Amino acid sequence: MARVYNFSAGPSMLPEAVLEKAAAEMLDYEGSGQSVMEMSHRSKVYQSIIDKAEALLREIMNIPENYKVLFLQGGASSQFAMVPLNLMTGSGKADYIVTGQWAKKAFKEAARYGDAKAVASSEDKTFSYIPKLTRDDFRPDADYVHICMNNTIYGTVYHELPDTGDVPLVADISSCVLSKPIDVTKFGVLYAGAQKNMAPSGVTVVIIREDLIGKAMDITPTMFNYQTHADNGSMFNTPPCYTIYVMKLVLEWIKENFGGLEKMQELNEKKAKLLYDFLDNSKLFKGTVVPEDRSLMNVPFITGNDELDLKFVKESTAAGFVNLKGHRSVGGMRASIYNAMPLEGVEKLVAFMQKFEEENA
Ligand SMILES: *Cc1c(COP(=O)(O)O)cnc(C)c1O
Repeated sequence: MARVYNFSAGPSMLPEAVLEKAAAEMLDYEGSGQSVMEMSHRSKVYQSIIDKAEALLREIMNIPENYKVLFLQGGASSQFAMVPLNLMTGSGKADYIVTGQWAKKAFKEAARYGDAKAVASSEDKTFSYIPKLTRDDFRPDADYVHICMNNTIYGTVYHELPDTGDVPLVADISSCVLSKPIDVTKFGVLYAGAQKNMAPSGVTVVIIREDLIGKAMDITPTMFNYQTHADNGSMFNTPPCYTIYVMKLVLEWIKENFGGLEKMQELNEKKAKLLYDFLDNSKLFKGTVVPEDRSLMNVPFITGNDELDLKFVKESTAAGFVNLKGHRSVGGMRASIYNAMPLEGVEKLVAFMQKFEEENA
């Protein structure tokens, strides 16, 4: 069996040990005589799986007691509506920083429900940087400020959070969750689709400070009300059972192999440095993001020549480095190097790029 190195932005690689464990438990989960796929979500054995997943996430992310963890469906994209429906109910104002396509979609969705304001945007330079703002840039009476922490398509990340004063910060962390420690207390709401760094697609994790629950607009559909899911332990309806189970395996993998997110971060920094150092010294390839805002997870790069980019994508795919084609809005290439990408995958990619450069420069 030849497994490829998958540099997809999402869905993306899962740790091989996790896939093996899931395969080994496929027909009979811990003596239950059933697959997790077949279990009632109301069974004791399934309850132990979801409880373990939540407990591990709380431990690994150091989530305080006064935050709820919700396992929802509808992807991170549903949160673009769920956040304003639940939170934009004080002054009815919310400030958005537009740092890419996802941030823009979130902003546009919020504008349907209230006074959403784009306080800054980096679209002028193809979202290749993070706008630097001060507290004065935000409306002090806004119900929240929304950011997209790691911009999957453009490869930028907030290395420092904006100072929003007393206004709760809401962050889409779909593509950086579990990549390094984050201080949950700095946020009102964190949300992430699972398929980048946590599990297969199907579950969206929401981490929400308890005082922000219970303020939804009257028009909010029951399923879009955080209260519904907080009151029912994410079991108001059938949760994405199998995905949550795989997330549990991924969290166990992090704990067993890294102990926590500090060590996870060390590995991620090592992988990213390898790639960025190569790009900075290359005569053929170059990164597209300003150095101070570079993402640890998504690394876009170009040769500056569309034909050569195509050739690179074709030859790298044939060599077992798949999904390196950049997003259609940036062009070029993008290497997504989430937690499950081994160091060896990045080392081999860099060696391949080196060789390509020698042959084509
Ligand atoms: C992938 C992604 C999304 C969309 O996630 P879905 O689960 O497909 O809705 C939103 N935000 C960010 C930052 C992403 O990377």
